[in-house]
Amino acid sequence: MCAMKRIVTLALLLAAGAFPALRAQAPQPKVVDVDKLADNLFVLKGGGGNTAVFVAADGVVVVDTKIPGWGQPIIDKVKELTPKPITTIINTHTHYDHVSGNVEFPATVDVVVQENTKANMQRMGPVLGRESVTSGPNIFTEHGGRGLPKRSFKDRMTLGKGADEIDLYYFGRGHTNGDAFVVFPALKIMHAGDIFARKGPPLLDANNGGSGVAIGDTLARAHAAIKGVDRIITGHSDVMTWADLDEYSRFNKDFLAWTRNQLKAGKTVDAAATSYAIPPAYKGYTPNADQTKSNVGVIYDELKK
Ligand SMILES: [Zn+2]
Repeated sequence: MCAMKRIVTLALLLAAGAFPALRAQAPQPKVVDVDKLADNLFVLKGGGGNTAVFVAADGVVVVDTKIPGWGQPIIDKVKELTPKPITTIINTHTHYDHVSGNVEFPATVDVVVQENTKANMQRMGPVLGRESVTSGPNIFTEHGGRGLPKRSFKDRMTLGKGADEIDLYYFGRGHTNGDAFVVFPALKIMHAGDIFARKGPPLLDANNGGSGVAIGDTLARAHAAIKGVDRIITGHSDVMTWADLDEYSRFNKDFLAWTRNQLKAGKTVDAAATSYAIPPAYKGYTPNADQTKSNVGVIYDELKK
């Protein structure tokens, strides 16, 4: 074993807890990784959902602010990218891993969301299937209302103009009942939040207005109405293409049709979910048995109403 390997081995032993007291005291480093999509648009990864940083002429717009404790690491990373002040936060939806960092930004920062998300953030109710991490106190109440939205929109809102324009859209229920599509038209880039989190079964958060009956149509409406976008920042994975959004709409519509047939055939949620396989047409999609079972249950409940 060479000297370097021995040092590495010792380091690994230390990390593995050879000194547990020391390890318990050491705070976990919050590492923010940066992907540059354009000279003035960056994706910040780590600590929850993907954060977009858009550097406009007069200041910086941040889309989504990650889990608790990750607001300051975002602020620190933005300072490395530009001397301009952060003026605006847009939250794509209410979930704790997209909004919690809001409370760490200066109170002067404007916060803009879809109007249903504003109501959801005032409640911060538990997320379906994630109750263990989302049933605690409302982080905004704990911070005296800091970070709550100041402005909201129903279907459409435009911020800034020219190279700085940001278009916000809402097309209906899906992941929640307040999923905003955030478009940077000059860059042909959109942040889709968790209504397109990854290629795989979506989280249908029925506790916050999510709908498995609506999500496929909502995605299709977005794909039909929004023009000129080439690249999509997803909620939790890589940058996707405009064609990927269309495919994801079809994936969700196919899942709805399949689930309808399971219900018609009298199958229980468990029996249906265990028999599901991602159709071969959807290449690169990752199965998720727990999410599939939850989604069958959500759609059964909707169809039985
Ligand atoms: Zn979410």
